[in-house]
Formats: sequence, structure tokens, C-alpha cells
Amino acid sequence: MMCDACSPPEPSVLPVVQDKPSDPIILHVDMDSFYASVEVQRHPELLGKPLVVGADPKGGQGRGVACTCSYEARAFGIRSAMPVSQAYVLCPHAVFLPPDFEYYSQISGSIMDLFRSFGFRFLQVSIDEAYLDCTPLGSFKAAELLARQMQEQVRDRFGLGCSIGIASGKTVAKIASDYHKPGGLTVVKPGTVRAFLAPLPVKKIPGIGKKAEALLLELGIRTTGELAATDIQVLQGRFGRGAVSLHALARGLDTAELEEYDGIKSLSRETTFATDTDDTTLLASSLDTLAKAVQKNLNDDHLLCRTVTVKIRYQGFETRTRSRTLPHSTGDAGPLHASSRALLREMYDGRKVRLIGIRLSSIEKPDRCQMTLGV
Ligand SMILES: [Mg+2]
Repeated sequence: MMCDACSPPEPSVLPVVQDKPSDPIILHVDMDSFYASVEVQRHPELLGKPLVVGADPKGGQGRGVACTCSYEARAFGIRSAMPVSQAYVLCPHAVFLPPDFEYYSQISGSIMDLFRSFGFRFLQVSIDEAYLDCTPLGSFKAAELLARQMQEQVRDRFGLGCSIGIASGKTVAKIASDYHKPGGLTVVKPGTVRAFLAPLPVKKIPGIGKKAEALLLELGIRTTGELAATDIQVLQGRFGRGAVSLHALARGLDTAELEEYDGIKSLSRETTFATDTDDTTLLASSLDTLAKAVQKNLNDDHLLCRTVTVKIRYQGFETRTRSRTLPHSTGDAGPLHASSRALLREMYDGRKVRLIGIRLSSIEKPDRCQMTLGV
């Protein structure tokens, strides 16, 4: 109910640990049932009613899903992304409205402008979610006061509620903003992260979808605490390299800062020819095979890269490398293959080649906190 958003509960401030000056302070703000709340703003007669924004339920026969729903509709068990036919069964007297994305985008733009106006490094991650890097404030207390101001201004200017999480990393900040919805303010200070996360089901970790949740369940892991207590080798067996950051997070280490990635720095593959060659078709096809392999590694770990380097070792061990930086980070085969082929063309001088290799660097992790529309 909107009124819940108007009177935020007391913030859940966990036991105080002295802030170190170096601790980043990341704030995540997420609008509460965004589309539904915006609709209530322009149709005040809907206030207090169960409201579902999404496809037409057509008396229970409709196809498509609910984009979002009011907290009154949630009380009937309706959730976003649920088929509208199912939502209709749960609450036939709910008000069903078609989404008006243009209008939501317009309101979102004004709200994001407000968030930006606080003057911190800013990263919008979906129509109703953003991060602010409040490290310059110097203390979690000051960030908490800022969060209250943000909530007040969003309420006064837009009549909408938002929930905010504050932590030293993006991932925990996002988990914290979801902790007390609607109207929540949750501060997770450094040193309390592991205790905060331990009781939470693993699905609360951004990036853990239904598939990963089921895999973890097979290992008997339901909570983040159980995840933390699991041997990293076991997790790596199931999740590959991604297990490292997941395990670290469960143990209280959230290294997800704004626009930074602290994992592997590069991926490379090379091959030595059985016989030194100057066959350009063979060189090109070998490079393609290597490019395909590193691109697969990149994709398997859900990473992006921006720099492609090709290495050629000629007869006599003389080695040459050449790099190209792409305009945007990518994980797509197209630009990676095109760049590696272009580099080969530019650098190959016709001599016999002993080894050819490729390296992808400037690697980054795209935001793990995926688009969540109006949730
Ligand atoms: Mg939301």
C-alpha cells in the first residue's frame, strides 16, 4: 500500500563497527512497485486497491504476464512476471491496467535526475534502480541521512516510495535495498556483511536464478550461510570460475564496486604449429579457432572484454603483438573475430610462423544486478 511507502519503517542498522576511511559506501535505490505506484499517482481512486499492471487477463483466458503489482495485489499472492491468467485466478476483482511504458520512462527520467543531483558517482541499472557511490561522505551515518533525504524528496515530489540499501559493495547494497520493502532503509556496515547475509536464501543473491538455486539445493545449500560454509572446490566443480566471487560474497566479501571488476584480468589461447607456416588461410583459421575458444571462456563466466591482442611468433622466436581496443566492452563473437582477423592482416609480414595466439583483456563483469522491471 502506498501509505506503507509514506512511513518508512525504522532502518535496520546492524551492530556498529568503526568505519575505516577506505571503506567504499555504495547506496542502491529501488523504487517500490514502480509501475503500479505511478498508476496510483495518476488514478488516485485506485489507492488501496489490488492493482496489476500487465497484459489483459481477458477473464482468466489472457496470455502474457504481470509487469508489476501493488502491495495490495501481492497480499493475494500475485507477483511480477506471473502469468496474468494466474493473477486473475488469485484475485479476479483486482484492477488490471495495461502498461504505459512511455509515461513510466518519463517519470523515471525525472526521478533519476533527482538522484543525480546529489552529486555522487551515479549508475542507473534499470528504469527504477540506481547506485550512488557515497564514499566521499566518509561515514555510513551520513549516507543513511542522505538516504532519508532521498526517500523524502521522492515522496514529496513524485508521491512515490523507494527502498534503499547501503553497504561497501554493490551486491550487498542491492540485497539490502530489497530487505525491507516497501519504504525500507537497510544499512549493512563493513564487518557485519557475513552475519547479514547468512540467514538469507541463496536466491536473494543477484545473479542466482532458478537454475543456480536448484544446483545449490542439490548440494544441500539453501542459505547464504550454508553457501559460505561449503568448500570452494565443491562450488567450483558446479559453477566454474564464477564460484570464487560467489563464495567470497557469501563469506562477507563484496568487491562489487561501481564500474570496477576485480577478477581475472585476461583470457588467452595460443597454438604452436607442427611445422612453421606462411599459409595465410591456415593462420586465419587457427586464429578463428582460438578466438572462438576464448570467447567461450568469456561467455561462460558472463564477462565482457574491450581489448583484443594477437600474438605471432615467427621462426627464430621473434614475437610480435598487436592490440585493438573496441569502442564498447563486448562478449559477442562478431567484433572479437573481426578484430582478431584485422589485427592479423595488419601485422603479418609474410614470414613463416611458429606460434599464433590471442588474448582478451580489459575484462569486466557486466552488472550482475540484472534488469528488474518495476519489482
Ligand atoms: Mg523496483
